Amino acid sequence: MSLNLLSEDLVPEHARDVKREAREFAEEHIAPNAEEYYRTGDYPWEILEAGMDAGLVAQDIGEEYGGRGLDLEQILAVAEEFYRADAGIALTLQLASFGAEMLEQYGTDDQKERYLRPVAENDQITGLAVSEPDVGSDLAGMHTTAEKDGDEYVLNGEKYWIGNGVEADWVTVYAKTGDTDDRYMNYSLFVVPTDTDGYEAEHIPEKMGMRASKQAHVVFDDCRIPEENLIGSEGAGFMMLADFFNHGRVVVGGHGLGLAAAALEEAWAFVHEREEFGRHVSDFQAVQHGLADMRLEFEAARALNYRAARKVEEYDNPGLWAAMAKTKSTEVAVDNAEQGMQFHGGRSILTDRRIARVYRDARIPVIYEGANEIQRNLIYRQSGEQ
Ligand SMILES: Cc1cc2nc3c(=O)[nH]c(=O)nc-3n(C[C@H](O)[C@H](O)[C@H](O)COP(=O)(O)OP(=O)(O)OC[C@H]3O[C@@H](n4cnc5c(N)ncnc54)[C@H](O)[C@@H]3O)c2cc1C
Repeated sequence: MSLNLLSEDLVPEHARDVKREAREFAEEHIAPNAEEYYRTGDYPWEILEAGMDAGLVAQDIGEEYGGRGLDLEQILAVAEEFYRADAGIALTLQLASFGAEMLEQYGTDDQKERYLRPVAENDQITGLAVSEPDVGSDLAGMHTTAEKDGDEYVLNGEKYWIGNGVEADWVTVYAKTGDTDDRYMNYSLFVVPTDTDGYEAEHIPEKMGMRASKQAHVVFDDCRIPEENLIGSEGAGFMMLADFFNHGRVVVGGHGLGLAAAALEEAWAFVHEREEFGRHVSDFQAVQHGLADMRLEFEAARALNYRAARKVEEYDNPGLWAAMAKTKSTEVAVDNAEQGMQFHGGRSILTDRRIARVYRDARIPVIYEGANEIQRNLIYRQSGEQ
């Protein structure tokens, strides 16, 4: 029996074709390989390349620069399909252009030709370096500096958790360029090619979930880049990042939706097969109510998430809606995974089970792109500002 959880009716019409492409791709390339990539912890280069060939990687970049110009609702529709199949591989596919979108919005023509086009054309991959070993949530408290020296900037400091920090051709780096009283105006963004002298990256220790995606510890040691690599204007980094995260958080909501759907599907299938006390476990009303709650919360989250996508596209209180979508969808993923585990009984803890993988992976989107406590701060503050 198919629950058809990621149904098309909620998805705007213009996003349905790419959603079908994503589902077909996920069924053929992601789901069948999920267990193996979790076990080996390898970087899924082959699947990334297949995703590029299928036109499903880095395609939010505009047609002018070689991409498909997919909008936020289309990327959300792709995200929920990919994450339903496997979150680790999905994160690698979606991280290939992470942060590059800011170059499209704020970069110079020369920067776009040199750095953005190769990403859109899938010749290069990139990453976004914001978080640090000692500071994660406080975006206006990061320590890495970029000091102007003649016609260059010199970067010093450390970044942590940087997706593709080892594999990327270049990364967008968030660094401190000022020390004014307004702590939100002290940061800037830079394009930093990873073969620049003074850029060193190594993988962080192995994770319990999303093992098919790789994060790095990056050290900048007198890393010199030309002044042309500054994105937008000096001091505007925080604002550019905050706006970018409004888009990113809607998509991370999609990560939660895919995981929540996977948990419900897996739990549903298990309890309808398993027999105890001479009947299917699904015949117990307590179990039926548990499944009903999983469905209810999933549908509520998904409706909110698509509504938020529209709001962010229309620039209608985007910070509030993005934070609500991210929080709700990622927490439904955690709750559904927890309930799904319980319904699997002892088998839940077998590491090769899909439900166990979903349970481990669901712990992650409640943290990345801003821990959900930070989202609640935004929701409270921006609710009052309407
Ligand atoms: C798999 C993965 C991939 C990632 N990829 C990237 C990437 O590509 N690029 C990048 O830059 N970063 C990335 N990150 C980092 C991620 O964005 C940070 O982990 C996140 O912002 C939280 O920062 P932190 O881990 O330092 O936690 P901290 O900021 O130290 O917070 C720890 C906990 O303290 C609590 N807390 C903190 N501040 C507050 C507050 N104001 N109010 C209430 N409670 C609070 C929360 O419970 C929070 O979870 C990634 C993280 C993971 C796990």
